[in-house]
Amino acid sequence: MIANMNRRSLLSLPLAPFALAAQQRKTLKIVGLETDLVINPPRRPNYDALQQLGIHSGTVTLRLKTDAGITGYATSSFGAIQGGPRVLRAILEEEVKPLILNQDPAFPKKIRADLHRGLQYQGLTGVTQFAIAATDIAVWDIVGKHANLPVWRMLGAYRDRMPVYSMCGWYYDNDDDLSQYKKEIENALGHGYQAIKIKVGRHSLADDEGRIKVAQDLAGKRRIMLDANQVFDRNEALRRGRVYQQMGIFWYEEPLPPHDMQGYAELAAALDIRLATGENLYTKYQFNDLIQRRGADIVQPDNRRAGGVTEWLEIAAIADAAGMSLASHGGGSANMNMLCAIPNAIYMETGGPQKRMVNGEVLAPEAPGMSTGPIEAA
Ligand SMILES: [Mg+2]
Repeated sequence: MIANMNRRSLLSLPLAPFALAAQQRKTLKIVGLETDLVINPPRRPNYDALQQLGIHSGTVTLRLKTDAGITGYATSSFGAIQGGPRVLRAILEEEVKPLILNQDPAFPKKIRADLHRGLQYQGLTGVTQFAIAATDIAVWDIVGKHANLPVWRMLGAYRDRMPVYSMCGWYYDNDDDLSQYKKEIENALGHGYQAIKIKVGRHSLADDEGRIKVAQDLAGKRRIMLDANQVFDRNEALRRGRVYQQMGIFWYEEPLPPHDMQGYAELAAALDIRLATGENLYTKYQFNDLIQRRGADIVQPDNRRAGGVTEWLEIAAIADAAGMSLASHGGGSANMNMLCAIPNAIYMETGGPQKRMVNGEVLAPEAPGMSTGPIEAA
């Protein structure tokens, strides 16, 4: 593959014109934006405390084309909103495209500023931020490919592998005896995970305690995280949090709605257990609000809502200065490329088996760019 060759070997071979141009040019220009929309057929649903997932889901793939033949990829998946992918596609095609054509992808901070100014009318949170984040990730994919480096190496890496955990303990239909729940946890442990996460908060505290004990029996000394998906009010979050910390849980995730920053601050001060939240926060401005109030121990950006690579690095630095750790909401190669460049990152979230997992850690991708699209052969 051309991507793995050095410049000398590259120049000694007859090459496709695009590949040679990409190696020799200093500047690139974005000349096209394309999207694909895939709506998934319904599957058997699973549940957290708040949501049903699996009935309506879909993915938008973004491709940014350059005049040197390098294409930048990003994907943005929706687990629960029927119209979301179509809205995202419309924003990318109709709002982002005119703002990004003719831009130099080596300037992701300028591109982000232009998108913020250009899209502010509809607000910079919600699906608008999904579009801005996907664009940023695709831009970094181009920059990495042009430099012939995986983005985590280009950013200045801290590590070349990440500890991962499996989000495996969901709620399922007709599972009062927890047989499906147990099976999913056993599968994750069988795949070699050293940490797992389970959902709580859909039913009573006694029900939570039962689910936690089952998971602890199966997991032994491996770490268990809990996720309440925003479902409690402040009193209930504290009452249950005291029980969870007594049970030796590693972190307690998203007990309150994301806008209740003061509630998070009070809860973090009242509990010893690590408080984790952030998957529903948008941009460094919302994270900064949470962090300044000391409303968490672990911040959890999502690479659609928080923003892309550019925004994540800033969120991570603000958290690091406040002595907080970072764990991703979600996994995959975009998250890996960012996490490996973040010194205070402690975990990547995943689900099923991972191809490149060793001792509970996933090895970073070595392909140039973000590894968010197909590996391009010469
Ligand atoms: Mg969560």
